[in-house]
Amino acid sequence: MNEGKKIEISRRVILKAAVIGSCYSVACSSLPLVAWAGDVPAVEHPMLTPGNYTNKGRCPNCGMNLNMWARTRHEFENSEGEFATCSIRCLADMSVNTDENPAKVQVAVYLQPEKMVDAAQASYLIGSTASGTMTMKSKIAFASKEAAEEFSSTHGGKVVDFNGALTAATKELTMSRPKIEAKRKKKGKIEDPGPEARCPVCGMYPARYPQHRSQLSTADGKRYHFCSSQCLIAFQANPKQYVKDAAKTKSIWVTVFPDGGYEYGMGLYYLVGSSILGPMGKEALPYRSKVAADKAASENGGKVVRFKALNPALVMGE
Ligand SMILES: [Zn+2]
Ligand SMILES: [Zn+2]
Repeated sequence: MNEGKKIEISRRVILKAAVIGSCYSVACSSLPLVAWAGDVPAVEHPMLTPGNYTNKGRCPNCGMNLNMWARTRHEFENSEGEFATCSIRCLADMSVNTDENPAKVQVAVYLQPEKMVDAAQASYLIGSTASGTMTMKSKIAFASKEAAEEFSSTHGGKVVDFNGALTAATKELTMSRPKIEAKRKKKGKIEDPGPEARCPVCGMYPARYPQHRSQLSTADGKRYHFCSSQCLIAFQANPKQYVKDAAKTKSIWVTVFPDGGYEYGMGLYYLVGSSILGPMGKEALPYRSKVAADKAASENGGKVVRFKALNPALVMGE
């Protein structure tokens, strides 16, 4: 690009240049940025420049920063409370896992991420060249059908309503999980424990317990691997007991029971006090679905709680 030359360029061309290329989202940092002085801002997704579009923090289902993924965020209610997710993908995941339809769903307008509209009134564009959030096939929202069609004329994709987009997001859930895990590993969000890594609580080798192991990363870039959720929860309650320089927890990843695979720890349902034992005996078994966790509780005893409620005494049945 010739920096010194005044370039006449239409808004549409800028948008196209900025959104071309698919980003499988989990922590995409290689989007082309277009920023010529005097031109309209590029469609930047994820938002790599600081912006305050929401005060809701992180997606409770995947842990991603909602301001960074502001263009595709959703807000809704269910019987557990009010939530804000990074995307319709995480909304679909939470709806399946809670076995509830979301109520009062609001969605950000893709080209005006500071604005939220009633999802039932919005038009969604599926599979355009806009990058996706937690999906290969983006699902972005517009305040009107006309706006969605205009964007589609340049960027492709199919215009549907909220139910169409939610159905498509729900259908992709199962097949997307291994891809999301692979992406998280590639970006360094999670990593398999090496054969020599030791659980800081009990000294066992987490690599040997693929059904129960978990990991915690800290704000100063350290990562601890645990053999079990029992050890993870003991560590979290009192890190200084196990390591000298324990920094603030950044994220926690646990192995979903019994399916396997790492998942964002805060978003799951935990069965405690059951007769199912892990490497250290008593466990908080992480289930993706509330229905599956409740069923396991009815068959094996114990009760189902959310991550926030977990503590060593609860896990140990004291
Ligand atoms: Zn999410
Ligand atoms: Zn351990």
